[in-house]
Amino acid sequence: ALTIAIVGLPNVGKSTLFNALTKSTVLAANYPFATIEPNVGVVNLPDERLGVLAGIFGSERLLPAAVSFVDIAGIVKGASEGEGLGNKFLANIREADAIAQVVRGFSDPDVVHVDGTVNPASDMETINTELILADLQTLEKAIPRIEKEVKGKKAEPAALETALEAQKVLNDGKPLSSTTIDLAPIKELGLLTAKPFIYVFNVDEDVLGDATKRTELEALVAPAKAVLLDAKLESELIDLDAADAAELLASTGQDESGLDQLARIGFDTLGLQTYLTAGPKEARAWTIGKGWKAPQAAGVIHTDFERGFIKAEIISFQDLVDTGSVAEARAKGKARMEGKDYVMQDGDVVEFRFNV
Ligand code: GDP
Repeated sequence: ALTIAIVGLPNVGKSTLFNALTKSTVLAANYPFATIEPNVGVVNLPDERLGVLAGIFGSERLLPAAVSFVDIAGIVKGASEGEGLGNKFLANIREADAIAQVVRGFSDPDVVHVDGTVNPASDMETINTELILADLQTLEKAIPRIEKEVKGKKAEPAALETALEAQKVLNDGKPLSSTTIDLAPIKELGLLTAKPFIYVFNVDEDVLGDATKRTELEALVAPAKAVLLDAKLESELIDLDAADAAELLASTGQDESGLDQLARIGFDTLGLQTYLTAGPKEARAWTIGKGWKAPQAAGVIHTDFERGFIKAEIISFQDLVDTGSVAEARAKGKARMEGKDYVMQDGDVVEFRFNV
C-alpha cells in the first residue's frame, strides 16, 4: 500500500497528530497491514457515496478506502549530516510515496520551539533545506556510479543527464517537485524532494475558522496543498461519537475534521482514486491509480478478475442515484458494458464479468 511519511521539526505536534491517526486505525477495519507496523496509522477516506449505495443495495456494512501514514521522528537542522538520528530517518522517508510536513502554527508558550519562535515559513525552510541537502548527497554518490555505468553501457545516457540536471536544480535551493524535469531515468534513487508534498499546519483552534489566516497559509505552500488542523482537537474528536464530534467541529467553524481532510488530500496527492462495488453484504470503495484501465482495476479485487477479465458493467454513481436501482439504470440505458481499454472514472459503480 502507498504511504505518506509524516515529518517535521520536534515539538510541532507530530506525535499528537499521529496518536489521533492510530486511534482512527482501530476503526479502519479494511486494513490488515496497519496492525503489524506500530509506526503506521491508517485513516478511512471519507466517502458519503457508500452510505447512499448501502441504502440502494441494502448492504450490511460499509468498507471505505484508506490512506496510511508512517510516523518519522523529528528532523532537525543538520539531519542530512547525520545529526540526531538523521540518516536513518531520511532512509525511512525514502520508502514513502509522499511526504506530509507538520508545521507548528500554535502559540502555546508552555511548549518550547526548537528555534525559539513560532515561524511557519522558517520551519518549512529548515526542513526543506535538509531534504534538499539529503538529495544532493544522494546524487553526489550516485553520479560517479552512473557515469561508469553509462561508459560500460549498463545505463542509459539519459540517466546521467537527468542526474546532472536534478543536481543543478537542488544547488539552486529548489526542491525537485518544483521543476518539470522528467525524473523517470533516476527513479531508483528515491529522491526525497521529488515526492509529492502536503503541508499540515497545526494551528490554534481560533485559526481554523479564520478565512484570512487560512488563505495566508495556503498561499505560503501553493501549489502544494495545505491542511489546517488543531492536533489536540483532533485527538479529542476521535474519542467522541459522530454526533458530538460534528457538534464540536461546528463550534470551530468547520464541517470536516482535520484527519478527514488529511485523508482526502493525501489520497489525491498519491494519485489515487476509487471505484465502487455494492451488494447485500457490503458497499465498498476500491483503491486504484488515476488512469487505470478496467482489467487492472479488477485485479485489485482478485488477480483472477484481471486474468479472466471479459468486461465491466459500469453505472456512474450519479446515474445510479438518479435511477434508484441497477434494474432501472439498465432499463434507461445508463448501464454501460466496457471492455479492456476502458479508463476507470472516480465513482464508477462496477460489476466485473470474468472467466475463471
Ligand atoms: P512532536 O515532537 O512533533 O511529536 O510534538 P508533540 O506531538 O509531542 O507535541 C509537543 C507538545 O506540543 C506537546 O506538549 C503537545 O501536547 C503540544 N501540542 C501538540 N499539538 C498542539 C496543539 O495543537 N496546540 C497546543 N496548544 N499544544 C499542542
